Amino acid sequence: MKNIPVVDLVGAGPGDPGLITLKGAESIRKANVIIYDRLAHPAHLNLARTDAELIYCGKQADRHTLTQDEINALIVDRALNGLKVCRLKGGDPFVFGRGGEEADFCRQNGVDFRIIPGVTSAIAAPAYAGIPVTHRDAASSFAVITGHERDDSGESGTRVAGQSEGRRNWANIANAADTLIFLMGVENLDVICTKLMEHGKSPDTPVALVRWGTWDDQETLVTSLSHAVNDVRSAAFKAPAVTVVGEVVNLREKLRWFDNRPLTGKRVIVTRAREQASQLTDMLREQGAIPIEYPVIQTRPLANLTHLSNALANLDQYRWVIFSSGRAVEVFVDQMLELGMDSRALANVKIAVVGVSTAETVKSKLNVIPDFIPSRFIAETVISEWPQKDMSATKVLIPRAQSARDFIPESLEEMGAVVDIVSVYETVKDHGNRDLILDMLTKGKIDYLTFTSSSTVTNFIESIGPDNIHLLNDLTIVSLGPITAETARNAGLTTQIVAEEYSIPGLVQEISDHAKNEEQS
Ligand code: SAH
Repeated sequence: MKNIPVVDLVGAGPGDPGLITLKGAESIRKANVIIYDRLAHPAHLNLARTDAELIYCGKQADRHTLTQDEINALIVDRALNGLKVCRLKGGDPFVFGRGGEEADFCRQNGVDFRIIPGVTSAIAAPAYAGIPVTHRDAASSFAVITGHERDDSGESGTRVAGQSEGRRNWANIANAADTLIFLMGVENLDVICTKLMEHGKSPDTPVALVRWGTWDDQETLVTSLSHAVNDVRSAAFKAPAVTVVGEVVNLREKLRWFDNRPLTGKRVIVTRAREQASQLTDMLREQGAIPIEYPVIQTRPLANLTHLSNALANLDQYRWVIFSSGRAVEVFVDQMLELGMDSRALANVKIAVVGVSTAETVKSKLNVIPDFIPSRFIAETVISEWPQKDMSATKVLIPRAQSARDFIPESLEEMGAVVDIVSVYETVKDHGNRDLILDMLTKGKIDYLTFTSSSTVTNFIESIGPDNIHLLNDLTIVSLGPITAETARNAGLTTQIVAEEYSIPGLVQEISDHAKNEEQS
């Protein structure tokens, strides 16, 4: 049976990937074809099926990748071929998104559609700048207005800015509501401001422009009707931006929350393996930073896990299992399940973990609360605080990376233990987008560079090329743990921040403190 053609016109929200609806995310997950534009955050595409066709039709003021007619035709063509189409649009599909035209074209061609509304940038961008569009004391209404004459021109606006403005009823616009919100208004800002003042708005009326609202690199410019054009020009402030006109703009001073966090606007390179980076990038983002993922290593389970399987088969002989990385826990658990074992097999074994996130992984993947977590996450502390003083003839299992330090096993052996080290995963080189990173480094756009292990240092330098090390002179280098810092030092790099604890929250805290101190000095 042929599939019923169906198209979802989905609002992706304004940027921040968390601001899509549950229904929108579901549509992306199920779609065979996703047609998206540049205002929809690319992270949404991570939800897509691996076999989904992803089509970019990014519109920009000065160029069209696809014309609107081509987009309409594409949507209908794919749907009539029985494919599930998700047309993913920035903000809300029916707020200046030309969603109406696309829906109409579907109907004309007998294609069913659903509209999945989204969070519009008209409200969300001001909100992320700390500006409520209404407020009991400042505004009881708001209007959303296109900065272009034709209010269906979307991002693209084929008409020339300023042309035919005479036909708009500016008296109505100026008095439409207490708060006026213009989309697509940057190019046309001079006309907007002049006309609003001509029609009775005070030149002192506060104005805010919010660019790439809710994205990591959101920028806000606060000005007034009479100064807006000059200020925007001298700041070289460009589209896409939402322009808010009205008293509510003053509330930003009190309500700012998103762009005044410790690391706001700071670009931080994360060199960790992609599969391990999310905690670090999430925490950096929470502090306002713009994490730039440049994984230089990759971890992968060993192809041959016989050694681990043998250890698991004899698990009841061990008194302790020590985990010092979340990755080791994951591989361990996956192999247990593979062999038909679950956490009950660990009932008589004590678990020691090194690292907060390793402990979290043990809890979430194994449903087991670790028996021992040292107060500091360095090997020396693990040994000095080790809870069982007499280790004679005690069997210890250490599943870990293929190349790792031997301090813990050797010390335990000195205490009389019988230690089995089992390699469960290996670390190999990864290659990120080198040109992009070199470009940012050359332009001085990077504030922090993070190394979470010695291999990230070595591979990073190899990746950018030793000749380019001088590009790292002006940024702050952050190393997790003294050993990583030492590797960096030996490679000729000066680490300004050494996070003593092997914990990602500790590392992020140190970067935040550093940024605060810099600001004060
Ligand atoms: N449907 C979209 C609007 C599309 S029109 C929505 O509901 O948000 C395109 C205009 O929207 C841009 O020119 C800009 O004015 C505004 N815009 C969209 N996303 C934005 C964002 N994240 N930050 C600032 N402005 C944005």
